[in-house]
Amino acid sequence: PCTDFDMAYFNAYADVGIHAEMIKDRVRTDTYRNAIMHYRSLIAGKVVVDVGCGTGILSIFCAQAGAKRVYAVDASDIAVQANEVVKANKLSDTIIVLHGRVEDVEIDEEVDVIVSEWMGYMLLYESMLGSVITARDRWLKPGGLILPSNATLFMAPVTHPDRYSHSVDFWRNVYGIDMSAMLPLAKQCAFEEPSVETITGENVLTWPHVVKLIDCYTISNQELETISTKFKFQSIMRAPFHGFAFWFEVAFSGPEILTDSDVLPSISCSSNTQLSDTIQRKKRPHPSEALILSTAPEDPPTHWQQTLIYFYDPIDVEQDQVIEGSLTLSQSKENPRFMNIRLEYVSGGRSVVKESIMR
Ligand code: SAH
Repeated sequence: PCTDFDMAYFNAYADVGIHAEMIKDRVRTDTYRNAIMHYRSLIAGKVVVDVGCGTGILSIFCAQAGAKRVYAVDASDIAVQANEVVKANKLSDTIIVLHGRVEDVEIDEEVDVIVSEWMGYMLLYESMLGSVITARDRWLKPGGLILPSNATLFMAPVTHPDRYSHSVDFWRNVYGIDMSAMLPLAKQCAFEEPSVETITGENVLTWPHVVKLIDCYTISNQELETISTKFKFQSIMRAPFHGFAFWFEVAFSGPEILTDSDVLPSISCSSNTQLSDTIQRKKRPHPSEALILSTAPEDPPTHWQQTLIYFYDPIDVEQDQVIEGSLTLSQSKENPRFMNIRLEYVSGGRSVVKESIMR
């Protein structure tokens, strides 16, 4: 059933601003277009469903790639404009806009291809992947193509002295007045919840950890309810450790199975090398590098930026110091589109538990 949470969610997508922001994100939109054109031999003459078509842009790319028919599905009222865009481009014979949820609309045939741009902040915020899974299980032919085909969520410890002092240290001396009494509130307001912001490779203390590798061909909705991982980092430099950054990448490949080793950094780095250098030299062993949409700090920025979870107080780490702990992501009971994030970690004898909600 369509809940009030869904209504609020789909209303947010009826605004033009969010669609402009996504379309203007060239890293995002170019990668989707390149992927669709790369797979044109699997799209031409075939039936496609675009899960959450928005303005219809990905459906139109699929029509340009020669699709026989594209079902462009969106529950938001933006579907009205998508339909106008399709008509104005004389594509009504190919693209059928369905204004409703993929969970509810009827499509009377199996489809060869699913295309969807479902990724939220920190990959899983918004919980839209579940709708792609539903579409796959309702309509995709065995052996059909899903774009993107897999997704990886990463995390890494970060240092960000400027951000910290901008939010916190300012209160130590205000017009010559000691306002340190403001510090607890300042820290709470700045760091209680995750924040979406852009960092660079220089903020990252060491190689990322894979939180979750998602194969869109096989993942189930049940597997997404709770995601837990244990991590162990070793800082490659001495720095104040301020929190963790999260980012993701998605890859557009055929229905083959991936293993964790396919996404881990492939070269080891000596511990005293500058991280920014090593990150530039890092080569992923992926077969089709061009068909990866990355939101990593060392890659060109996207509208997803990175998601940061800061601590209230930094921990000074030495080179090679170990940071270990666990992370659990789960759907919020308050609103299934929200995400609970529980972090536990120990470093240099300090142990911290931090729970936050991404709203
Ligand atoms: N494909 C477009 C828009 C992506 S944004 C583009 O690439 O520019 C995601 C869209 O999916 C939003 O418009 C949202 O309304 C829609 N959406 C999310 N969940 C959906 C569901 N269960 N059924 C139908 N549409 C959905």
